[in-house]
Amino acid sequence: MNAYLLTEMTWKEVEQALKTVKIAIIPVGAHEQHGPHMVESCDAVLATEMSNKLAERLFPEAIVTPTINMGVSPHHLNFPGTISLQPSTLIAILKDMIESLKHHGITKFLLLNSHGGNQSTLNLASTTLSRELEVEVYFAKTTASAKEAMSTHIESTLFGHSCEREVSEALYLAPHLVRPDQITKGDIQEEGRWKQLRPGNPIQGYYAYEEMTRNGCIGDATKASEEIGKEIVEEALLRLSESIRLLLKETDKHATQTI
Ligand SMILES: [Zn+2]
Repeated sequence: MNAYLLTEMTWKEVEQALKTVKIAIIPVGAHEQHGPHMVESCDAVLATEMSNKLAERLFPEAIVTPTINMGVSPHHLNFPGTISLQPSTLIAILKDMIESLKHHGITKFLLLNSHGGNQSTLNLASTTLSRELEVEVYFAKTTASAKEAMSTHIESTLFGHSCEREVSEALYLAPHLVRPDQITKGDIQEEGRWKQLRPGNPIQGYYAYEEMTRNGCIGDATKASEEIGKEIVEEALLRLSESIRLLLKETDKHATQTI
């Protein structure tokens, strides 16, 4: 793979890479239950794989940092094995990472996140750390921009966790995350306040995952395939890389104008 991966480099190699690197990609995942058919490191591994592939597309302008392999997952805690960070802990880790990397001369950051429960914390981190550390902190969901592939292949109205989308992505990027003989649909609760709190409703709020699904997954993972995963992942990588190139161009223009 032709990509700068910080964890695999010596300091001499990093020193050389920093001559061309303009942005650091920080993979942000989670350690949480993923139903009966996916392992708990799922989000951390998918964020890492997506970051590595994105850095390959952006070579030699991007470098991937170590993965933050736990996230904000209190809503999954009633399933065995989940470990959850406080939002303030996640922001503190990001702050220390970004401050260290700024010391090495990097001033632009993409938090590439694979776990929905992290999004509001990353939004806050982007706003506060950009100002406090005088850097540019952007954030994105790993595959949310794959709109075409999603609308073609995803039929479930309720999806996004250990569903046909996520299992497909894993079958393409890291099949060891999946237990093929255990693949099943979400066992969705018919009743409950969760129905009033899903995105798109007038009111949002916290609810535990078991209020919505008895087996910890949603959607219909039996429809997942490596081919669907490939389409979703490759479309998302195209959108993300285009977007970052434009951002880098704009910020370069801005930098030359202000000199
Ligand atoms: Zn996940």
